[in-house]
Amino acid sequence: MIALTLAEVAQAVGGSTHDIPDPTVPVTGPVVIDSREAGPGSLFAAFRGDRVDGHDYAAKAVAEGAVAVLATRPLGLPAIVVDDVQRALGALATHVIDRLGVDVVALTGSSGKTSTKDLIAQLLRRHAPTVWPHGNLNNEIGLPLTALRAEQDTRHLVLEMGARGVGHIRYLTTLTPPRVGLVLNVGTAHIGEFGGRDKIALAKGELVEALPADGVAVLNADDPLVRAMASRTTARVVLFGEAADADVRAEDVRLDSRGRPGFTLRTPSGCAPVTLRLYGEHHVSNALAAAAVAGELGMPVEEIASALSSAGTLSHWRMEVVERPDGVTVVNDAYNANPDSMRAALRALVAMAGPGGRTWAVLGEMAELGGESLAEHDAVGRLAVRLNVSKLVTVGGQAAAWLDMGAKNEGSWGEESVHVSDAETAIDLLRGQLRPGDVVLVKASRSVGLERVAQALLDGV
Ligand code: ATP
Ligand code: MG
Repeated sequence: MIALTLAEVAQAVGGSTHDIPDPTVPVTGPVVIDSREAGPGSLFAAFRGDRVDGHDYAAKAVAEGAVAVLATRPLGLPAIVVDDVQRALGALATHVIDRLGVDVVALTGSSGKTSTKDLIAQLLRRHAPTVWPHGNLNNEIGLPLTALRAEQDTRHLVLEMGARGVGHIRYLTTLTPPRVGLVLNVGTAHIGEFGGRDKIALAKGELVEALPADGVAVLNADDPLVRAMASRTTARVVLFGEAADADVRAEDVRLDSRGRPGFTLRTPSGCAPVTLRLYGEHHVSNALAAAAVAGELGMPVEEIASALSSAGTLSHWRMEVVERPDGVTVVNDAYNANPDSMRAALRALVAMAGPGGRTWAVLGEMAELGGESLAEHDAVGRLAVRLNVSKLVTVGGQAAAWLDMGAKNEGSWGEESVHVSDAETAIDLLRGQLRPGDVVLVKASRSVGLERVAQALLDGV
């Protein structure tokens, strides 16, 4: 982070200083919300959570070296007192972004935000110093914390914005105002919470509404709800996708024998060949989105293609592919699941298996689907049959059982699909069953905890 005096911090957040003998003392970073991460030069932001109140840990943070605490009341410790710590953190992030003049790239969508954020980061960091969140810091706390990591020479800030409801992204864009806004897709993730796809589109489109007139809206040409967002922005629109009028396109898309896509990247400034190291055709769309962003920020097409071709998975449990010494491939996609990402993962699974290799899909519930839940689980179960997955193991409660039901109703499946109640039973069922060449996909919403199955598989079950 850049050094800011306590006086500058207090001014930026509109706070009052208490018990600070010398306001010219600099905060050199990092800004932390966990007192265990405080150290010399850091600023501790005291959040009140459901179970713990950060104010109770302020003294500990100061003892660790924090130069001050961002708090809602004087504590008898060096403190900058504000009404709302979260808003103050946002105001500080906005201040730093303004001062440095960094380009904020923000992206949203139903599926692939973290994967695409990691791709964009791997492109842009080749071009100029870039800061991006590790993992999934995509809310009103994670975004400012990431922005505050920017250094004097940082040129690009890549941020993922998750929408919890209408109005949420609009608020996030006030904390870390983007110049480039990317919308990947509008799917059915969290549809229960939102109450319909149109509502999801309404919420995600707030990102492009927040762009300045000299900004760029990067939109998926193949998703009608995303394409329609062009009318909600005054920024320039750049389209990516398969559509004939897309500015950034993939031509001659093919999958190698392990299901890794290759294609010719076509952009307004030229063409270049790309071979991804990522598994699954859905990454073509993510790669085009990343290429469009990087192109807009001045990266030459050859450099984009070469960076895409060497990009890997930076965040764990998202289509993380590990080949065991015995020739069994484990695809750990246990981070999350929604209907679109389930379909994408099943297709990738089938593409990854070589001749004679069996495919196993160990799947659990897709949460937060509201009234669509039965139909969506049924449809994914049926797709597993249509794709010829060798064996389906569904894990968990009622929703997972609907996956099994869908599969059994689709075809003449009997033992090809098995439903079990929990991860441990699934592990027992898989024990000793796998042979060289098999590919096993593990995927469900986080709450199911299927990473336990993935770990057991990696441990050699
Ligand atoms: P979250 O809402 O949990 O933050 P996210 O949008 O960040 O999710 P990722 O974590 O990148 O998404 O990926 C989640 C899942 O979606 C993974 O299983 C991944 O393989 C799949 N996925 C990634 N890109 C796409 C895409 N373009 N279309 C469908 N599925 C995708
Ligand atoms: Mg994410």
